[in-house]
Amino acid sequence: MPAVVHNFADIDFDLPGKHHYQVAFHLDGSWGYSLVPLTVINGTRGANANGVLCFGGTHGNEYEGQVSLKRLGTDLDPDQMAGRLVLMPQLSESACVANTRTSPLDGVNMNRAFPGNPRGTVSSRIANFVKTRIFPLGRIVIDIHSGGMEGAFPYCTSFHPIADPAQRAEIAKVSQLFDTGFVLIYSSAMASGLLSDEAEAEGKVTIGSELGAGASTDRLGVRHAYDGVKNVLRHYGLLDGQMVKIRPAGSVPTRLIKADKLDAYVPAPANGVWEPVVHPGQAVEKGELLGRLHDFSDHSSQGLNILAPRAGFVAMLHLGARPLKGQTLFVIAENVEWTEVTG
Ligand SMILES: [Zn+2]
Repeated sequence: MPAVVHNFADIDFDLPGKHHYQVAFHLDGSWGYSLVPLTVINGTRGANANGVLCFGGTHGNEYEGQVSLKRLGTDLDPDQMAGRLVLMPQLSESACVANTRTSPLDGVNMNRAFPGNPRGTVSSRIANFVKTRIFPLGRIVIDIHSGGMEGAFPYCTSFHPIADPAQRAEIAKVSQLFDTGFVLIYSSAMASGLLSDEAEAEGKVTIGSELGAGASTDRLGVRHAYDGVKNVLRHYGLLDGQMVKIRPAGSVPTRLIKADKLDAYVPAPANGVWEPVVHPGQAVEKGELLGRLHDFSDHSSQGLNILAPRAGFVAMLHLGARPLKGQTLFVIAENVEWTEVTG
């Protein structure tokens, strides 16, 4: 079993080779710890200025990142690598164990907990560990998500609108290395305290993603995550070899879409039973039927038709059949030319 680390200073992040740890964060309500898995690989083929930092299980019921990063931690050989790779496959460890989005220990959503607080609750202390101990180790940050029980997305990597042109262009380049059908530019205004917010603000090349849904382990989502991270390692010279295509030969080029303003995130107008008639990633016209909300208090009533307010691509659909009024029902994203972000 990996060593349990109580004092962060006991981790030698420069030690050559591959090292697995369980970082102990004490519980707030009882004697014990959240033991957060950490793997540090320092390649023996020399230094590399582009350390890569990968996170899974930021939301506990999203498994593609957990599985792919665990496998990378066992599969990668430091003698075939240069530079440093840090893997944290179950960042919100207590949520991962509980199969929940947020931590059952403190009710905190890890992806709203940044930059964290060294004297806060357990999720806040883990976030602060990432901010103060892990972020300084690299300039490439990858946070692997999937829709959990919230939403269904087309396979996509993602980033926020980025003001700095050089940072934006590099992020846009790296976002395509996961060979997903879509790259989504998403709004910064939906929420704050994201891991990606913090990394972007530090100027890092920051990649988010949505690679599955329904608290399952999506087979293709795991491939995008696993081979995508390896492509990133190859791109920056941490690993030798050619880039790997993940989608079938002949697939259309990765499409860039944006939902960078809040009006793209449409809330359910009422409680109901949701019957979508489009699928994630589908192109829709303005006014096209997206689905119906059914009210079973009167089963003779027509369903409420939900229409697309604009043309674009379905970037997210509410996953469960029972949206509540105010929950995001769908997102329609607009097509963007790559040259708009790459310059
Ligand atoms: Zn998530």
